[in-house]
Amino acid sequence: MTSSDGNPVDRALAQVLARAANAYPGVVADYIPELASADPASAAIALTSTSGHLYAAGDHDVAFTLQSISKPFVYSLVLGQLGVDRLHEHVGFEPSGEPFNAISLDDAGRPANPMINAGAIVTSALVDGADEAERFESIRATLSAFAGRTLEMDERVYASEAATGERNRALAHLARAAGNLARHPDDAADGYFRQCALLVTTTDVSVMGATLANGGVNPVTGMEVVAPSVARRTLSLMASCGMYDHAGEWAYRVGMPAKSGVSGGIVAVKPGQFGIGVYSPGLDAAGNSSRGVAALTLLADEFGLHLLEHPATPATSVDRLIHDPVEGITVVLRGELAFTGVEHVAFEIARLLTDNDLAGSALTLDTSSVTRITPAAERLLDAVVAQARARGRSVTVVPLDR
Ligand code: GLN
Repeated sequence: MTSSDGNPVDRALAQVLARAANAYPGVVADYIPELASADPASAAIALTSTSGHLYAAGDHDVAFTLQSISKPFVYSLVLGQLGVDRLHEHVGFEPSGEPFNAISLDDAGRPANPMINAGAIVTSALVDGADEAERFESIRATLSAFAGRTLEMDERVYASEAATGERNRALAHLARAAGNLARHPDDAADGYFRQCALLVTTTDVSVMGATLANGGVNPVTGMEVVAPSVARRTLSLMASCGMYDHAGEWAYRVGMPAKSGVSGGIVAVKPGQFGIGVYSPGLDAAGNSSRGVAALTLLADEFGLHLLEHPATPATSVDRLIHDPVEGITVVLRGELAFTGVEHVAFEIARLLTDNDLAGSALTLDTSSVTRITPAAERLLDAVVAQARARGRSVTVVPLDR
């Protein structure tokens, strides 16, 4: 696809990619010898919306290995299996402020977080399965479900890392020595090398991100891959720890949960809206794709994607207020009711109840046009109704049209 093809979203992505090409090219990783053969000029960006629409520019079909982008997705698999408390006995929640391959282990052998190598090796070793082969198939199946297609392993990259991965094996041995690794350290490191060697395209990465953006449901295939709370917790760690010792500046400048890998890919997520994949193999000093960081920084600036950007003021949930001498007051609600929606309703009703001109009139709360209500908002709304009744009003609730 070129910049003259496609719809305006494809073109906007192509423009961002073209501008990112002016950034420092970075240096292709060669500590895993096989990674050194990547074409430094290759670059791609892809975006998948939570409605399942795909957009891309550049070399979006070029395959590369996931490397550390595998970490949040394997974390989500284990979190779903063990739950927060059991999983986090083994690994922390805190940004390490250190490089990805740091010897990050506290006295109990607990790495700072699951997004750095030490934490990812410990996490990956907790995947349920009878043996190493079964555990890897479970990882492969889950990451494939995130991508919406079966992912294959790059044997050469795997063999290349397995032949040279002393540092990662050392991390596994240290975790084992501290009593924080249930498997043989070499097997744990081997399983981790395999997950890192799964092959993806930039488009795959955007679909994987979109699945997290969409509360764990792959928006292209419709499959529920992980529970919504697992997706949220995974994004939370990506937001604080996904970019290693660059995580703080990343949160400041870009403000999207993200995870990078040494092969030059980055996944970034705009919760509720879309997932993005970028690829460019040259890395900066923190081991993140240099032009990938540039592309995401430009995109976030241009489209106001920062997590803490002042959000559009939510539309009021009170659609209409009808005063009728016979029927009394009807409050018609609409849209999604979460905390702020019910807060608006409670405010309006409190005002109506103290309005002397309306004293004694019956109240109808029509929620038939509400599309969704959170459980907490529903409890709050019940309390509003109970309070009106306690003040002697006759209240009728027209239920949600589910
Ligand atoms: N397999 C790589 C390693 O452990 C992954 C690191 C990364 O992508 N940052 O060294």
